[in-house]
Amino acid sequence: MSRPPVVARTLPALRRALAELRKRNASVALVPTMGALHDGHLSLVRLAKRRADKVVVSVFVNPTQFAPHEDFGSYPRTFKADASKLAEENVDLIWNPDVKVMYPEGFASKILTEAPAVAGLEDSFRPHFFGGVTTVVGKLFIQCRPDVAIFGSKDFQQLRVVTRMAADLDLGVKVIGAPTVRERDGLAMSSRNVYLSAEERAIAPTLYRAMKEVAKRIKAGKTIASSLTAGAELITEAGFVLDYLEARHAETLAPIKSPKEGPIRLLVAAKLGKTRLIDNIAV
Ligand code: AMP
Repeated sequence: MSRPPVVARTLPALRRALAELRKRNASVALVPTMGALHDGHLSLVRLAKRRADKVVVSVFVNPTQFAPHEDFGSYPRTFKADASKLAEENVDLIWNPDVKVMYPEGFASKILTEAPAVAGLEDSFRPHFFGGVTTVVGKLFIQCRPDVAIFGSKDFQQLRVVTRMAADLDLGVKVIGAPTVRERDGLAMSSRNVYLSAEERAIAPTLYRAMKEVAKRIKAGKTIASSLTAGAELITEAGFVLDYLEARHAETLAPIKSPKEGPIRLLVAAKLGKTRLIDNIAV
């Protein structure tokens, strides 16, 4: 039985714990999360264990990536259950700062990124989002100085933004993307799935099914535009309010009109009742 993870809640405690982990030149992987951990998060932890000697998981619900009308207040917070899941995965350190530790009185800085962060996807519907993500992830990278950091492809634009930021700012972190973990019916696991009523939960896998249908049509030689129209119909007929369903270049996130232009990623965001879901797949 290995030791339970150390839990650090202050910067001095984090520094002490990291110094201990780094003894004998051990490499460190960071897995940033907002807690309410599910098997998708745990798959990132398992990948982290394969990529580094020691694993740090941050659990921090980051207020700066939520707009005032969004769900910061009601976001599920389940630290005790999270900590025992992370203990079972033999995580070495949990970084669980308070909001005041991350953003002390007078905090006034922001990391601003362009290209993938202004691609006209999540940024169009959540304009505050990437500024909050890059600022907190930049801080986490500087605080923890990991050799590698694991992010889920579930948040595909975020993965691209963070990868770009780490390279642009010479943060010395290798960002690694991990595949999306799904429920048996195809719904991408998400901490926000707990918001869904039983009826909504039954409808939710339509997002994935619709993207599969779009991919099938594109592979069969139909135009991207007509395939997306068919996919959008499936999604709205099921009861979603669609924010976007788009085909983008998988690397640059630039709009793409034909498979000849490069690898395609389908990305979707839609609201079901009060819950906003996002997902994406490769074609
Ligand atoms: P969150 O706690 O939702 O901010 O997510 C923390 C990390 O877990 C992010 O890198 C997400 O992309 C990743 N993640 C969330 N859901 C999944 C999933 N279903 N499969 C794989 N990774 C995920």
